[in-house]
Amino acid sequence: MSNELTAKGEDCLLQEATDKFVLKFGRQPRAAASAPGRVNLIGEHVDYCEGFVLPVALPFKTVVVGDFHNTDECNIVSVLADGQELSSSFPAPTIAELKPGPPSWINYVKGVVAHFPRTVQGFNAVVVSDVPMGSGVSSSASLEVAVFTFLEALTKHEIDLVDKALLCQKAEHEFPGVPCGVMDQYVVTLAQRHHALLIDCRSLEAVQIPMVSEDIVVLVVNSSVKHQLAGSEYPQRRAQCHAAAALLALPSLRHAAPHLLKDLEAMKCDELVLKRATHVVNEISRTEETANALRNKDFKRVGELFYQSHDSLSKLMEVSCPELDELVDILRSSAGVLGARMTGGGFGGCVVALVNKENLSGVKKKILSEYNGNPVFFECQPSDGARVISYNLQE
Ligand code: ADP
Ligand code: MG
Repeated sequence: MSNELTAKGEDCLLQEATDKFVLKFGRQPRAAASAPGRVNLIGEHVDYCEGFVLPVALPFKTVVVGDFHNTDECNIVSVLADGQELSSSFPAPTIAELKPGPPSWINYVKGVVAHFPRTVQGFNAVVVSDVPMGSGVSSSASLEVAVFTFLEALTKHEIDLVDKALLCQKAEHEFPGVPCGVMDQYVVTLAQRHHALLIDCRSLEAVQIPMVSEDIVVLVVNSSVKHQLAGSEYPQRRAQCHAAAALLALPSLRHAAPHLLKDLEAMKCDELVLKRATHVVNEISRTEETANALRNKDFKRVGELFYQSHDSLSKLMEVSCPELDELVDILRSSAGVLGARMTGGGFGGCVVALVNKENLSGVKKKILSEYNGNPVFFECQPSDGARVISYNLQE
């Protein structure tokens, strides 16, 4: 397997999806849409504390094409990056109330169809995606928002962008049953090229932060590991942060000024609760500071904040793992790396780093020779959010 992933590009994905649709359903599709994956630059384990997060959309995308047809069934075929083909059908919501059920992947589609705010009749669709699945770059939100946008094109009803992101989040809560925050669907929906998105998870306001540089690239390194711990540790971190806020009589740690950490310490609260709260309070201010540093093109400062964030996630939040720590250590000692940190929920997944363009190949070589696992690299050019693709079909 190659250690480099490059985005295929929307045109190529659209062509693949259109060809597959013609092959499967014997006619041209009439509606098409795309939605990207995402990577979070900073603001980790703070969304459930009403903090700030700063993701960017990736050039990797999910494309959905299709058309209504004359039965009450929704038939979906999904072609994965490795060529594997999945297919599943469910009754249109016009004839039956949709409920979650196997196979698990179809719930991401079914949930969106169930929450789409207009009548959806039976349709055929093909999904083609090059967003890496289960690597922490949100293939799930990419699929949900791509399906939602496809339904907008199909029904010719445009839905407000924030409503769309919130409906897709609700779909993920209720169908696959994943209690995700709002970040993924927000950035996949609202992202703009050459910008990161600063999302305030308390007010749900989102601000575009320009992110352009001639000489610096965002390198993502997939550790290619995912430890099972993630599922059980995540609710514990949530509970510990909520316990800290409750001790301070605050609705969430977002309301905690840094000096309140001293109060928490004076209360002799549980040591783990204090560590988690210290991470969250400082990570929220690091995220705001990163947005300001990006505005000022101060990438050196952004890099420093990345390292601080990683150390805090590793030592205070304790959501890193030996592989992610190893990658960040290698990056720390590589020429031309300004900063690096784990990104996503932790216990595996990806590391994100700011690297001088001229040092990029040297950095990759060093990782390939020193990392004990199988690293997969991709570059992240901040990309656009979801969009309807017009087919310009001749009638
Ligand atoms: P992530 O969102 O970080 O990639 P998740 O575990 O949240 O990881 O979501 C991955 C799941 O989403 C997959 O196991 C699969 O069920 C579903 N999924 C994502 N993209 C697709 C796709 N293109 N086709 C079918 N299922 C998909
Ligand atoms: Mg996901």
